[in-house]
Amino acid sequence: MTTADSEAVSSVHYLPHRWREECGVFGLWAPGPQIADLCYLGLFALQHRGQESAGIAVTNGLHVDEVKGMGLMTEAFRERRPTLAGQAAIGHVRYSTQGASVYANIQPFFAYAPGGFIGLCHNGTLTNADQLRRELEAAGALFRTTTDSEAILNLLALSNGQGVLDHIATALNRVEGAYSLILLTPNQLIGVRDPKGFRPLCVGQLKPGQFVLASESCALDAVKAELIRDVNPGEMAIISHKGLSFRTFGSKPRRSACVFEYIYFARPDSELDGQSVWQARFRLGQQLAREFKRQADVVIPVPDTGITAALGFSQTSGLPYVEGLIKNRYVGRSFIMPQQITRETAVEMKLNPVRANLQGQRVVLIDDSIVRGTTSAKIISMVRKAGAKEVHMCVSSPPITQPCYYGIDTSIRKELIAAVKTIEEIKECLGVDSLHYLTKQGLLDQIQDPNNSHSCLACFD
Ligand code: SF4
Repeated sequence: MTTADSEAVSSVHYLPHRWREECGVFGLWAPGPQIADLCYLGLFALQHRGQESAGIAVTNGLHVDEVKGMGLMTEAFRERRPTLAGQAAIGHVRYSTQGASVYANIQPFFAYAPGGFIGLCHNGTLTNADQLRRELEAAGALFRTTTDSEAILNLLALSNGQGVLDHIATALNRVEGAYSLILLTPNQLIGVRDPKGFRPLCVGQLKPGQFVLASESCALDAVKAELIRDVNPGEMAIISHKGLSFRTFGSKPRRSACVFEYIYFARPDSELDGQSVWQARFRLGQQLAREFKRQADVVIPVPDTGITAALGFSQTSGLPYVEGLIKNRYVGRSFIMPQQITRETAVEMKLNPVRANLQGQRVVLIDDSIVRGTTSAKIISMVRKAGAKEVHMCVSSPPITQPCYYGIDTSIRKELIAAVKTIEEIKECLGVDSLHYLTKQGLLDQIQDPNNSHSCLACFD
């Protein structure tokens, strides 16, 4: 991280978070004057994947018109959106996992070579980024950002092969980790998903000859495109005036799709790798209910991400689903607090109890995960103070004992409560009457991978 990066980070005081997303990518091939607006709509549907900055670039094959800005989509594009009537556009919403949240790091990134330009949007994290950067710098490459994504762009600019698809395949042979990419050249739009398929990427059709690439299918809905299918791990989706085609690249390692997309990150109205996120999350709640062995009166979600699992829990257990915590919808994930307000107090800015629904009740509180435990402890204390007789915490994921190296901002290991404490100690810390985490097998069964043949569980192992 550069000095400028550190200054930018320390000047901002965000609402405390439990678990942050990675990024969202969107691209479309739809020649016409509406292209920037369509890209804006698609990207807006992916706002949950990144709220720190956003960028859109449009090309007509000769020129590129790009607009970037810090903050939410509404802030980043308050002044202007691209105005070029182009044939293709790409866009990115960012949450920084590598490189600070500063203007220079806003994507799309572009490199200009004799054969034309190449633009890039990246969701994921490269595990060999530092090594790649050292090697590329030694070979004379210049970096303008502090992100790992720029290493991919430099590799693309320096790689050999016959045509851009060979360049991409050669460059990606040297890249390790998680990447779903959308690339833009003067005459092609290309979606790429890494060989393990950590992060999602799908392709849809807008009209005959017009195609869309997006992190999640909810963004296809936003522009009224039909989902065709997910881009497979180790596959490129190539879009041009000739239409849509696919090409595989790289080795065929074991597939490792991130299970947290189903548990928390993805929007419930998305479909990932053929599964409805809402239905998967509902089944996780049902499974939790089958595993939970206590008596209780009501099921209460931690809004918003605990809601679907709580509905599933309620249906299977027969316990009534009750709203016990109300979220202030105007406090977003990137809400900037006044400096004098502590992070602890800030949780109360976001959630407030419904005392009438909690008083005298034996409550099952459903949440998607526990990372550090500080926010959960605050919420549980709030529920108790509001009059709950008992609080039983049920978590729709197994204990997180390892940081994620594939594009999710968890904490460092020693800050992960389940990495340093036993379940009994966590129960004491949180102040609950009982604590139940979903079992790993329960998770695998409900995301339809009972033999663990295609899921990443690295943060639980
Ligand atoms: S380590 Fe966890 S959060 Fe990271 S990709 Fe794997 S399952 Fe997802």
